[in-house]
Amino acid sequence: MPSLWSWLLASRSSAAAASRSLSRVRPTDPEWPTQASWDQLGQKISGKLIKVQSPLAECVQAPSSPNSLHIFKELKNPYYLGDEVGLTQSLGWVDAWTSRPSVYAVAAESTADVVAAVNFARENNLRLVVKGGGHSYQGTSNAPDSFLIWTRKMNAITLHDAFVGAGCDGQHAPQEAVTVGPGAIWGQTYKAVTTKGGRYVQGGGCMTVGVAGLIQSGGFGSFSKAYGMAAASLLEAEIVTADGAVRIANACTNPDLFWGLKGGGGGSLGVVTRLTLQTHSLPEFFGAVFTTIKAMSAGAFRQLIGKVIEFYCKSLFNPHWGEQIAFRPGNVLAISMVFQGLDQQQAETIWRPFFEWLAASPEDFSIVAEPKIMALPARQFWNPEFLKKVPGLVLADDRPGAPEANIFWAGNLGETGQVLHGYQSAWIPASLLQEVQQKNLADALFAAAQHWRVTFHLNKGLAGASPEAIAAASDTAMNPLVLDAFALIISGAEGPPAYPGVPGHEPDLVTGRQDADAIEKAMNEVRKLLPNTGSYLAESNFFDQAWQESFWGSNYPRLLAVKEKYDPDGLFFVHHGVGSERWSPDGFIRSM
Ligand SMILES: Cc1cc2nc3c(=O)[nH]c(=O)nc-3n(C[C@H](O)[C@H](O)[C@H](O)COP(=O)(O)OP(=O)(O)OC[C@H]3O[C@@H](n4cnc5c(N)ncnc54)[C@H](O)[C@@H]3O)c2cc1C
Repeated sequence: MPSLWSWLLASRSSAAAASRSLSRVRPTDPEWPTQASWDQLGQKISGKLIKVQSPLAECVQAPSSPNSLHIFKELKNPYYLGDEVGLTQSLGWVDAWTSRPSVYAVAAESTADVVAAVNFARENNLRLVVKGGGHSYQGTSNAPDSFLIWTRKMNAITLHDAFVGAGCDGQHAPQEAVTVGPGAIWGQTYKAVTTKGGRYVQGGGCMTVGVAGLIQSGGFGSFSKAYGMAAASLLEAEIVTADGAVRIANACTNPDLFWGLKGGGGGSLGVVTRLTLQTHSLPEFFGAVFTTIKAMSAGAFRQLIGKVIEFYCKSLFNPHWGEQIAFRPGNVLAISMVFQGLDQQQAETIWRPFFEWLAASPEDFSIVAEPKIMALPARQFWNPEFLKKVPGLVLADDRPGAPEANIFWAGNLGETGQVLHGYQSAWIPASLLQEVQQKNLADALFAAAQHWRVTFHLNKGLAGASPEAIAAASDTAMNPLVLDAFALIISGAEGPPAYPGVPGHEPDLVTGRQDADAIEKAMNEVRKLLPNTGSYLAESNFFDQAWQESFWGSNYPRLLAVKEKYDPDGLFFVHHGVGSERWSPDGFIRSM
């Protein structure tokens, strides 16, 4: 059923559409650029044009060849995936999308390369795709028959002591900041800012996610309850818009575009070629608390859920704490929380009452993974040398000659090269933490966990955050519901690397659909409490029909106006991106 937004747009834009090109060209169309045109583009950008070939093509043709076996092994290495122009971090999503290589790509090294590519795409009416870290769950950094701008090589990082945005002289005080190229990933950025620079920048949890993609989709990291949404720390961006112009966007110059870039969604407003982010002083310690508990009966599990909500509300609902509490089938509760600004002893004191409560009922609760509480100097938190010494915490890029700093959290391995089976999320308002509501919340979580695991990501909602974090997030395009949510609840499932046409490695459609069904049932239990909640596009359901409302809520009309101003013809299209309701699902045919 068309959404309200589609209907409104249809009535507004039917006249305008008549004067526009209604479909983009594919390689099979006579209008596809000639070889001479491609060669000319290649010369203009000094040979940075690539004819894209996915390594998976070889796996389809010769699945048992040594090279194919090697490729399948490397599909579990996020750095390999990131360095391959024809691959993405997820290989697909059952019944949603499959990772497909573009026909040509520009491996951009400068803003001028990006300008040349944007102009070429517009002049030749091509389906344009932008890829940074390649982590989109929605499959928005790949498309068949497309032309790709790939920013991987634009990864310079520079720290500033006193940054003032262009045009902001006299209006904004100088502040400490970091400027990052659009191809940089968070691991590289943390190394420069925290390990080397002794400062803090708000990014995401996964070290191989791209900075530009995460900032434009809102972005949350473990410590977002203290430092806010990552997008809210954007001070300035350089962006190439659909007309080929290089624009600065900050609070003083093109402020409408600046606002739209903060959570308005990647790949929709232009190609970001540089980002400057606010940095903060580091606290003395970061730390983590891990444990897994199994309740011995359904009744005990329900009691445990009630207790953990009460404990969270009383002791952890503040800027010190973030990350996850998972509720799993089999009456299992898994805690993986992180903290900032507390030392070991303070963290232990906070958790003691909870662990004492558990210990008092050994007949009801068994500890599957013994509680671990550890604080470490904040500067070591992303230091590859330090992390490699902690058993089981990180894995390394195993390719010969790979940089020593190429590490990733072992906890992200399951998502590397995955085929998603299902994924849904919803913000949980802080009103459900009120004493009278806690019972309803616990009942819903208990019912949900009978179907599939559901996990509170307590750093992906800003209720309980610092006032500065909330104020900064309210000046972004994100759905304002994020300000009142204490958590994002996520339910997901995935299978190992698989690709259609590779014998023995085909996506498991049967299991995929069963898992998706179980996720739907689990999330329906949560939605009974929250019929009108939202989510954010980076970690959300591909099939969400009400995506405009979910991702941007009351901000959608303003975001659409920014889109219309800077990209009226829709050169930039992504699935469920602003303005995408005007296009066919593959982004080739303009429907209104
Ligand atoms: C394993 C994993 C862990 C994650 N953890 C977190 C987390 O902790 N917190 C969080 O907030 N999110 C998280 N995410 C979601 C992630 O932030 C988003 O998927 C993000 O958009 C990825 O950015 P990317 O550059 O890596 O991906 P890409 O797929 O390259 O890009 C994502 C989108 O942004 C666009 N884009 C990329 N670069 C540019 C550019 N320079 N200019 C314009 N558009 C651009 C692309 O076209 C695409 O539409 C995670 C995702 C994965 C797969």
